[in-house]
Amino acid sequence: MENCLFCKIIAGAIPSSKVYEDEKILAFRDIAPQAPIHVLVIPKTHIASVDEITAENSGIVAYIFENIPKIAKLAGIENGYRVISNCGKDACQTVPHLHFHILGGAQLSGQMC
Ligand code: AMP
Ligand code: ZN
Repeated sequence: MENCLFCKIIAGAIPSSKVYEDEKILAFRDIAPQAPIHVLVIPKTHIASVDEITAENSGIVAYIFENIPKIAKLAGIENGYRVISNCGKDACQTVPHLHFHILGGAQLSGQMC
């Protein structure tokens, strides 16, 4: 996707602070962290949002979640974390490439919104 910010990060056209990368996924630190440790995990294939997950492409979502515990540890999270995916306007999704926020590094609020 030519005009997708996260596809550009995957391609290396925009720099990122990488935490983990393999042939299927990339994890990097959020540029505007909302917790002491805030990492984004994205598939290297362009999927716009949770709304676009199907039986055909959900394997990559499972793969992301299989890797999230390792990515959280690599990022320095020790005592738990929150995983969030904002989907669509009301959830304030700003980048239309599927991503999962990993938030940790401190006691988080009991409120989720
Ligand atoms: P969302 O609002 O759920 O779509 O999340 C998009 C996230 O991408 C936000 O938390 C932004 O701070 C983050 N972000 C935007 N541009 C960059 C960038 N160049 N590098 C790292 N994170 C970014
Ligand atoms: Zn993309």
